[in-house]
Amino acid sequence: MKRITPTLKGPQTLNQPCASELDIAIRAVADACTVTRSVQTQLDQIRQLTKDDSSPVTVADFAAQAIVAMTLKDTYSDVFLVGEESAADLRTSPDSGIVVAITHAVRRLRPAVSADEVLDSIDIGNHDASDNRYWTLDPVDGTKGFLRNGQYAVSLALIDNGEVVVGVLGCANLSTDYSRPFDDPDPTGCIYYASHGAGSWYLPADNIEAPPIRIQAAAEVSLDRLRVCESVEAAHSKQDDTQRILKHLKATSDPARLDSQCKYAVVGRGQADAYLRLPTGVGYVEKIWDHAAGMLVAQEAGAIVTDMYGRALDFSKGATLSANQGIVCTAPAIHSQIVSAITTLGIGR
Ligand code: AMP
Ligand code: MG
Repeated sequence: MKRITPTLKGPQTLNQPCASELDIAIRAVADACTVTRSVQTQLDQIRQLTKDDSSPVTVADFAAQAIVAMTLKDTYSDVFLVGEESAADLRTSPDSGIVVAITHAVRRLRPAVSADEVLDSIDIGNHDASDNRYWTLDPVDGTKGFLRNGQYAVSLALIDNGEVVVGVLGCANLSTDYSRPFDDPDPTGCIYYASHGAGSWYLPADNIEAPPIRIQAAAEVSLDRLRVCESVEAAHSKQDDTQRILKHLKATSDPARLDSQCKYAVVGRGQADAYLRLPTGVGYVEKIWDHAAGMLVAQEAGAIVTDMYGRALDFSKGATLSANQGIVCTAPAIHSQIVSAITTLGIGR
């Protein structure tokens, strides 16, 4: 598998990923997508087994985190992984339907694995972000999207001294056909990956050996037809504020709504001009695994990613983006106008 990576001279410097880290991250995300996709085809069966509507997504979350952790562990003896999930609650009832379902899902790719090995692998993700260099994972970002068979993303990033150096997004239901509605899942899906300074690239999710295709954010923006995307969930982004910004800019378009970090990829590939995430006023602090991979994919495609006040996202604060508020990810031509509009309208203050 040939990847476009920065040229490494001499010993690896702290900020640069080595080629194998990128390859392994892509492999891990592709395998996790295979597993989440297979859970999604068995939603009703899993609901029966676990007697809980939210369990299918939980099964997918845990199984995907186990797969990614195992893939990293196959290569590295020390894996520092800040994952969204923990097996602590699962260990209180190891024979429950949910542990059986998770183990069954992981066995799709690791046929010989035991339930204990699955739980131990999930807990590899318990790192506290205190090391200088660590991975961060959201195994199923956009859980509501997963449940409604819409968009979700397996999101894996490598952070080095507060800088995101590798980002891989497994957008398992996202189509390369831009006319396909976001709530119509694609049979193949897309992987987007980036490493620091080496651009952003697309691969089909079912064939990561295919030649990668470079993606680019929109070079020009038409203000009156501004293509903005935002969360489906009104609790995650203040949709009224998006409307106020569009009105202020005299844009006549309506925002597209989709779940998960797929929004960063949609801007990175030039399908949308902006992804806005505007606080709903509940004091929510964004998590690193919800943004690290997506931010790098968008930035390396030429987009500008900041918080709502134009500040760079600060990944040096541990597991949260505590120095930031909201997200503004846009094609370069529109970024300053959107940040100015936010200030003028007093959004978030
Ligand atoms: P999205 O699919 O873009 O709506 O984002 C899904 C992510 O939103 C989840 O992974 C949650 O971590 C995150 N989230 C949960 N509550 C909030 C909130 N109040 N504001 C912003 N994001 C949230
Ligand atoms: Mg998430």
